[in-house]
Amino acid sequence: MADAFDVVVIGAGPAGYVCAIRAAQLGLKTACVESGSYEGGLGGTCLNWGCIPAKALLESGALAQNLKDHGEEMGVRPIEVEYDMGAAVDRSRFISDRLTKGIGFLFKKNGVEHLEGIAKIAGSGKVEVTPVEGDPFTVETKNIVIATGAVMKSFPGFEIDGEKVIGSREALALRAPPERMVIVGAGYVGVEFADVFNAFGVDVTLVEALDSVVPLADAEIGKTLARSYKKRGMTIRTGTKVKSVDRESSPMILTVETDKGDEQIETDVVLMAVGRSPVTAGLGLEELGVELNGPWVKINEWCETSVPGVYAIGDVAGEPMLAHKGSHEGIVAAERIAGVGHHPMRYDNIPSVGYCHPEIATIGLTEEEAVAAGHEVKVGKYPLTAHGRALTAGHPEGFIKIVADAKYGEVLGVHMIGYNVSELIGEAGMARALESTVEEIAAHAHAHPSMAEAVMEAALAAMDRAIHM
Ligand code: NAD
Repeated sequence: MADAFDVVVIGAGPAGYVCAIRAAQLGLKTACVESGSYEGGLGGTCLNWGCIPAKALLESGALAQNLKDHGEEMGVRPIEVEYDMGAAVDRSRFISDRLTKGIGFLFKKNGVEHLEGIAKIAGSGKVEVTPVEGDPFTVETKNIVIATGAVMKSFPGFEIDGEKVIGSREALALRAPPERMVIVGAGYVGVEFADVFNAFGVDVTLVEALDSVVPLADAEIGKTLARSYKKRGMTIRTGTKVKSVDRESSPMILTVETDKGDEQIETDVVLMAVGRSPVTAGLGLEELGVELNGPWVKINEWCETSVPGVYAIGDVAGEPMLAHKGSHEGIVAAERIAGVGHHPMRYDNIPSVGYCHPEIATIGLTEEEAVAAGHEVKVGKYPLTAHGRALTAGHPEGFIKIVADAKYGEVLGVHMIGYNVSELIGEAGMARALESTVEEIAAHAHAHPSMAEAVMEAALAAMDRAIHM
């Protein structure tokens, strides 16, 4: 039996590694078990086969698209763009490797012990680790943090074969893109890959079962993105469910179900982007009596499960399944364990960002949700069509929308689509964290020319005082 730990974190994704580092900073003897699975390794899906390499490819795509769309008018010639997806993939892998190695360095620096292997909770205060090579061993610990993440979903008949039907893991390593690709699901994974592959010259069809792309976002955002994608030549099929795929025919035939009946789409590759499932199997949760909430581990606002001394954070602990939500839960859990926790999770103020072009960023309530929650609302919407910074960037599409309480002006929600809005959502989140009003946002002199000015204009619009429209 090895030495006893204060905390053993299971999983080293953005939730687990942040939790382990914070726990060690607080003087707790900490270990983090990470197996280096298909999507994982130090840094989890996010750093290895998710957010980070995807954003690197999105930047390559945006550069290609910008040259095609704006090279000539911006005075940059020649504008004949050549695509080398292999080079773009190499760059994304280089960035991913650099960051994942960085986690190993941070573990060493902070004294977190990395236990390589697959963990199972072997009883109260006991974690069994099965290494890739060598015999299983058990460590004792006062606290256990479950941070096992989530894995890609698929359907019967649409199993990932890595060649004809692929998932995001394979899409991120596709060095020679096909002529045609159908992407199933228009959540963030779907719309981000559609952006990349269209920019690299692939004929992309986006198939979504619900009535809009990014169906969970403000409805106008979905409409704006679909319009922009159609303009770039993508085919958008909303209200369309996939039924079956014939992998043997050449080209492959995908059968989809629409309200007009079944239809067939020819394609070379199908990319599945239909969501992710939390990883709870094989962890010994049932034996320990850890309660679930649907497929997720049930937690409270301190990330405590139903069993004392057992915590859960990140994708395994519920929606939204976003890296920054998991990292924040990691900090909340570590500080709670150390007895210094001073702020619980605030799940109503987690930003959500899609890094497609135009970018999408949202936080808080939509107009419909605010009305349903009993608020009398005032909406301030500022289109970017004539916004100086958006025009100079060559991207005057989209808008900033602020949903405010009509009486006091409190910011209830902010919904944006447009150039660099991923960088603007921080201001909106801070405004909501401080319970700020549209008056307070508008009272601050925002830099000119900047995209942030558009947030100020939307705040002014919510008071019928917009200057530039
Ligand atoms: P998702 O659940 O957000 O979207 C999946 C989409 O697939 C849904 O819109 C759904 O209606 C559609 N769908 C399901 N079955 C279908 C069918 N039979 N035919 C057609 N469409 C179908 O999942 P995702 O986009 O795969 O993302 C997975 C997780 O990762 C999410 O939690 C997401 O928020 C997160 N993520 C976040 C980012 C980001 O923050 N930028 C990027 C990628 C992924």
